[in-house]
Amino acid sequence: MSLPILKFDAVVVGGGGAGLRASLQLSEAGIKTVVLSKVFPTRSHTAAAQGGISASFGNSEEDNWHWHMYDTVKGADWLGDQDSIEFMCKQATDAVSELEHYGMPFDRLDNGKIYQRPFGGHMADFGKKPVRRACAVADRTGHAMLHALYQRNVKAQTHFFVEWMALDLIRDKDGDVVGVTALEMETGQVYIIHAKAVLFATGGAGRIYQASTNAFINTGDGVGMALRAGLPVEDIEFWQFHPTGLAGAGVLITEGVRGEGGYLLNADGERFMERYAPTAKDLASRDVVSRAMQVEINEGRGCGVNKDHVLLKLDHLGAEVIDQRLPGIREISIQFLGIDPVKQPIPVVPTCHYMMGGIPTNYRGEVVDGVDEKIVKGFYAAGECACASVHGANRLGTNSLLDLIVFGKSAGNSVIEFINAMPEHKELPENAAEISLSRVEKLNTATTGEKVADVRKDMQVCMQQHASVFRTQKVLDDGVARMKAIYERAKQIYVDDKSKVFNTARVEALEFLNTVEVALATMVAAAARTESRGAHAREDYPDRNDEKWMKHTLYYSDGQRLEYKEVHTKPLSVDYIPPAKRVY
Ligand SMILES: Cc1cc2nc3c(=O)[nH]c(=O)nc-3n(C[C@H](O)[C@H](O)[C@H](O)COP(=O)(O)OP(=O)(O)OC[C@H]3O[C@@H](n4cnc5c(N)ncnc54)[C@H](O)[C@@H]3O)c2cc1C
Repeated sequence: MSLPILKFDAVVVGGGGAGLRASLQLSEAGIKTVVLSKVFPTRSHTAAAQGGISASFGNSEEDNWHWHMYDTVKGADWLGDQDSIEFMCKQATDAVSELEHYGMPFDRLDNGKIYQRPFGGHMADFGKKPVRRACAVADRTGHAMLHALYQRNVKAQTHFFVEWMALDLIRDKDGDVVGVTALEMETGQVYIIHAKAVLFATGGAGRIYQASTNAFINTGDGVGMALRAGLPVEDIEFWQFHPTGLAGAGVLITEGVRGEGGYLLNADGERFMERYAPTAKDLASRDVVSRAMQVEINEGRGCGVNKDHVLLKLDHLGAEVIDQRLPGIREISIQFLGIDPVKQPIPVVPTCHYMMGGIPTNYRGEVVDGVDEKIVKGFYAAGECACASVHGANRLGTNSLLDLIVFGKSAGNSVIEFINAMPEHKELPENAAEISLSRVEKLNTATTGEKVADVRKDMQVCMQQHASVFRTQKVLDDGVARMKAIYERAKQIYVDDKSKVFNTARVEALEFLNTVEVALATMVAAAARTESRGAHAREDYPDRNDEKWMKHTLYYSDGQRLEYKEVHTKPLSVDYIPPAKRVY
């Protein structure tokens, strides 16, 4: 069957912060660029980012990028690539200034400089005391950022295909990427988009878990597409649990609350973080705080009738500070739980929040394959779907928004260089749309099988029970067996609704086929790593083992195979930061 073919120089899949920063770079350079997005760009998950974006301006107290780099390396528990980390931290102030010039309305100090708040794991003087490094727009930073970027893209005449879902990568006989297949949701038509370069910025996959701060559209499509195309995913066993998800609802309460002076209490009214992290206390990095909370709950010091959460106290900050700096979280707690934080503490639990792993790239945003990091020609990735790898085993709060704009721009620049050296499009392979069409066709014809909602629910429960904050070999091995069975069931899904126009059941089914790839990858990679590092906390292997495990995991879907590659230990200009014990 022949499909309609559309031709662009570059196609960017994803209209969140990373996608829009990349497309802006491309369109401003005169590259014919289209952005595909499942939702209107400003509804991407980036819009939900609350707390801030890191940059060592030092507007309130002394700070510099070397300290930011040190904190990021330490936060990553020495699994981050130090060339990428240096690249990001060094560029942070320029990148944020650029956003300011695009019209992003940052909160201000009285002297007119950008207001900055402290955030977990961001410290002065190589880990000595918390520092103010997070630039914020109240507690709606991502929303402001996304709107500023979207407007600049409109000015630069970027093309947008809104409510289009990319289905698969198209690779030619050399393995080069020459386009994507995509579904126009409004009509149900599948297209081939033929391009010189494809850039993925499809965001996270928090929906593999039952309790998640992530939007419903965060289904890991980019990782699923890369895996189906024979490419690996890196360090996918590392998932961040955010300490303060609203108990019962999962909605995020920003770490900015603790940055502004809020703190956590157990059922005894004790500020327990003082025991776990004497220096940074409630502003230790996220994995540390989440584990401490889970221990308090497991040992019977949880709050409420079921003793299943702890409390976040902020009433002492006063209504004025809360209304000025944290209006969004006041609204969220009142709406979801009927609790006004000006008067009462907020019930919170650790909740799945962020995917540290992703499609492997270098700091130029070029996708790399295998242990020897061979560049996949024509393929680029940035943002949460990519692994550059700056966050290693644990991401610091506010470092993701920074990652989006630094690596979005960097990947954009690499695409420009690549396209400028390429006069013609490479030819499309004959079977360009084969994989996509067979998947869509199956959903169009199958009338019996498994219901998507059932298999998805089982996957989420399995992930929650077998790959949570604390892990053991037995629990993970059982998880692998359960997930493999779920993966097989996913091949049998069908949808009742066979209509073409805005068939959301079909879209959800296609999304789920990506999500389940991410879930299985996570479980297999986690069961293999017999150490504790960052967010991967093994009760049976409580220590970090640098000799054996200071290496990146690569998971391939074919045969559920694992490989391991070296961590980059050579920064670009400064000295290597050698491993040390991680205390806060
Ligand atoms: C509640 C919350 C609060 C956060 N707060 C902060 C914070 O304060 N500071 C910070 O640094 N980080 C924060 N984070 C993390 C950060 O916001 C995210 O990691 C980041 O926004 C991801 O951006 P992205 O551009 O990679 O992807 P997203 O913003 O998730 O965008 C993904 C885009 O890809 C598109 N897409 C996906 N699949 C397809 C497909 N198959 N076809 C077409 N389009 C597709 C979507 O439509 C969307 O446009 C927060 C995260 C959450 C969930």
